Amino acid sequence: MSILVTRSSMPTLEEYLEEIKPIFESHHMTNMGPIYKKLQQKLIDYLCVSELLLFVNGHMALEMAIDALGLKEKGGEVITTPFTFVSTTHSITRNGLTPVFCDIKPDDYTINPETIEALITEKTVAIVPVHVYGSLCDVEEIGAIAKRHNLIVIYDAAHAFGVTYKGVGVGNFGDASMFSLHATKVFNTIEGGAVAFHDGKYREKLHELKNFGIHGEDDVLGIGGNAKMDEFRAAMGICNLRRMDECIARRKAVHERYNERLGNVPGIRIRKQQEGVSANYSYYPVYFDREIFGNTRDDVYEELKLNDIFARKYFYPAINELSCYADIQGAETPIAHDISMNILTLPMYEELTLEDVDRICDIVLGK
Ligand SMILES: *Cc1c(COP(=O)(O)O)cnc(C)c1O
Repeated sequence: MSILVTRSSMPTLEEYLEEIKPIFESHHMTNMGPIYKKLQQKLIDYLCVSELLLFVNGHMALEMAIDALGLKEKGGEVITTPFTFVSTTHSITRNGLTPVFCDIKPDDYTINPETIEALITEKTVAIVPVHVYGSLCDVEEIGAIAKRHNLIVIYDAAHAFGVTYKGVGVGNFGDASMFSLHATKVFNTIEGGAVAFHDGKYREKLHELKNFGIHGEDDVLGIGGNAKMDEFRAAMGICNLRRMDECIARRKAVHERYNERLGNVPGIRIRKQQEGVSANYSYYPVYFDREIFGNTRDDVYEELKLNDIFARKYFYPAINELSCYADIQGAETPIAHDISMNILTLPMYEELTLEDVDRICDIVLGK
């Protein structure tokens, strides 16, 4: 049987049916119903954040967060990373803002705060960093830069569900954070997303944006869209959240086996555990230094494929090398380019067996 890079976590059918049963009595299928509200509260608790709203997916959550925090209205430039999923950049551009690409750090692949300040102009309004693979951005340094220059910070925390830093939930950093609850992520609601924030003044605007701009029964205040999470998805979230500890524990075992097999191989670089950061084991990225390892990332990718194992070149190409962003001017980002050319995320999901991890590693190592 082929092995894909990920396999979605799911509850048993019986467990899910039990959770959606009340919908068949109430016929309350969407529009922030009781299951939505239950999941919302559970996630506020789980993520240790003060405010959180649920969305139809992570992309719309981020796009609407950027709007709700006043950036669309302001216009201007947003400093962001080219080493991410294209959704991050699209969320900026679709709000009429211009992305300015800042290079990343070679060790954890997050935006490099040392190069942010040189990119700030009088047009800069925000920074949108990404906690890539669940690695925490340099939140303290980014926070200090934002404060000095009066900038909004919105984190793309799509990969960082459940991650904490010195015991603080990752969703507390910056002005807002977006979590993706997509089927391929560590925690899923099939499709889904969330925005966490601490300033209550954003609540109403965010809520209105995802519900057509409707304000009470008598008026529509803003030009909103529709990005509400429905009850069936919320129910999937309730089920999957129950199993989170078990899910993380199983991913951790996979992660540790990969570390054992690949951690000390010349020419293979794995990420170090960041100090004070709790991992969620969302991805297992491996960097191949072709000079030392011999084979390239693409060689390994093809060899795995021949064996019916599908790793992912994630993220490749870097965003500033995509056709849709070809005419965005900006600084060179050589590290993002290098990482995108040489990184491979290996299969990682809770049901992956250690035997399969061994088989994958044997192929990677040419055994
Ligand atoms: C998955 C992902 C998104 C988009 O989330 P969806 O829930 O799929 O819309 C945005 N940014 C990053 C980094 C992602 O990995």
